[in-house]
Amino acid sequence: MKDYYQILGVSHNASSEEIKKAYYKLAHKYHPDKGGDGKKFKEINEAYQVLSDKEKRTQYDRFGRVFEGGTGPGFDFTWTWGKPGFGGFDFRDLGDLSEMIEEIFGSGFPKRKKDLKRGRDVKIILEIPLETTLKNQEKEITLSKMITCSRCQGSGTEPGTKIKECFSCRGTGQVQQIKRTFFGSFTRFAICPECRGEGQRPEKPCNVCKGEGRIKGEEKIKIFIPAGVDTNQIIKVEGKGEAGKRGGRPGGLYVQIFVKPHPTFKRKGDDLYLQVPISFSQAALGDKIEISTLEGKEISLKIPQGTESGKILRISGKGIPHFSGLGKGNLYVELILKTPKKLTKKQKELLERLRKEGI
Ligand SMILES: [Zn+2]
Ligand SMILES: [Zn+2]
Repeated sequence: MKDYYQILGVSHNASSEEIKKAYYKLAHKYHPDKGGDGKKFKEINEAYQVLSDKEKRTQYDRFGRVFEGGTGPGFDFTWTWGKPGFGGFDFRDLGDLSEMIEEIFGSGFPKRKKDLKRGRDVKIILEIPLETTLKNQEKEITLSKMITCSRCQGSGTEPGTKIKECFSCRGTGQVQQIKRTFFGSFTRFAICPECRGEGQRPEKPCNVCKGEGRIKGEEKIKIFIPAGVDTNQIIKVEGKGEAGKRGGRPGGLYVQIFVKPHPTFKRKGDDLYLQVPISFSQAALGDKIEISTLEGKEISLKIPQGTESGKILRISGKGIPHFSGLGKGNLYVELILKTPKKLTKKQKELLERLRKEGI
């Protein structure tokens, strides 16, 4: 992982002004047009692009990388699915997620170092639009990973042939190595290189997977996403990681949720915040307006007479469902008084009259 702060030569709590200054200075110094180092220049720009953007910087500080945009720094793998405009779903291999999972699941998270045949865990980020958190949903994704070889059903053995004892280690999985030194000979046991410690080998390895029992492929996986899910929650799908070697257990699939920010509704916990512009006459006289909820339903809202700009109205139960399944958050509507920028002649006259009235 690249340390963008180090690249720009600023501290981790540098202000945006300090970052900007450092960037300008370095960009000037390393600009290829001025005979600077082009590689270094690119690196500086990459660092600045992330650290100058508040959202990207937060993500970078938190996860060590940025989710937005497929070509961001440090991505090993990007996968996008979905209709344009609907948000789509992004799947990215997140290298350092395993640490996070251990933090979340604590010491109960199984350490499987000894299980050599077990498939690797797969970690992905699933990007979902805010409105989809209103209901339980099931999403089908297509994942590129190691899948069980269909020719040999994962055994690694060519159909019709047998698995036999490893000749090199006689089925023990270990071989003796004799090391001769000045002080004499030493014997030590090592994992058999022929069968990699399994003690068995296919009589004839499968033609497709060359005896591995698995191949690169794609699998369609259905992921259940409960209502009320929020960013950074992790959904585990048992057995949907990479296939194991020669019939070994598959790894798990860890789906980290990233709820995309909505253009109009802001989420805080399970509450939603919405800003609604109102005119001066609506504020002064009161009114009844229609607003659209996150679900897309129209509801009517009473603006009280004499409303001040910034007044917040609470509509209970129109927020995000609680993850527990019991109840929902609230919708808070902030009324923002809009001052007209352009006025017709008639409007001007009427306002002049109001001014004379002291309003
Ligand atoms: Zn095979
Ligand atoms: Zn062996």
